[in-house]
Amino acid sequence: MGTALMQGDTCNLCRYQGSQFRYRGHRNPVLNRLQVIGAQRRKANCPRCGSSDRDRLSYAGITQRIAFGPQPRILHIAPEKQLSAALQSWLKVKHPDAQYLGIDKRTGLYRYPSWVQDGDIRNLPVPDAHFDLVIANHVLEHIQSLDQALKELKRCLKPGAYLLAQVPYSSLLEESSSSPQLNPIAKSLWQRKHHGQWDHEWLFGQDLKQRMAQAGFGAHWTLPKANSLRINALEPLMLYQV
Ligand SMILES: [Zn+2]
Repeated sequence: MGTALMQGDTCNLCRYQGSQFRYRGHRNPVLNRLQVIGAQRRKANCPRCGSSDRDRLSYAGITQRIAFGPQPRILHIAPEKQLSAALQSWLKVKHPDAQYLGIDKRTGLYRYPSWVQDGDIRNLPVPDAHFDLVIANHVLEHIQSLDQALKELKRCLKPGAYLLAQVPYSSLLEESSSSPQLNPIAKSLWQRKHHGQWDHEWLFGQDLKQRMAQAGFGAHWTLPKANSLRINALEPLMLYQV
């Protein structure tokens, strides 16, 4: 066979290169109508390691945009499997003295490796002013008491430290939408219809940065440059600094 050049996009987690990315995301009228970033159905999963466009965006952002000191402490809430594996490999080489902790609320829906502790984002079992970075991707939209979660995230970050918090987001929505008080079944139906997923308490809109600023998080959003990582060019890296 010839030596045809590999073509297509690259996965920055496993170095796959090609064009066989697989579909992920949901088909849902509200996600299409509001062009919700981070949720719509798209060809974005790496066929080799299974990483998502969000994993690749987050990995690039964390490894390129944050200047860590010699012994960084990182908390990863609801850690994505591929992203956490890639980050741990990167830390081993670049920051061997790093502390990397995973926390998630164990619900029985997922299986966690032993390094992931049980914990609730509204009441984290960690000290004050401890972390240089907290990663909490696609978590905040599940939390009804958002203010409480943001307060808790701020508490455990050192001054000047970072929060990476990707969320489903619509730039067409002026004001973020939160769910009304309903019984659990009615609520899940309402949320599926209005937020695009049965367990999303929030769909965030144009006021997101302002909400975050009110909670003490300065936004450093950046759109990905033209890239070959099969990342959504419209999904900003939602990075904040306290
Ligand atoms: Zn990959």
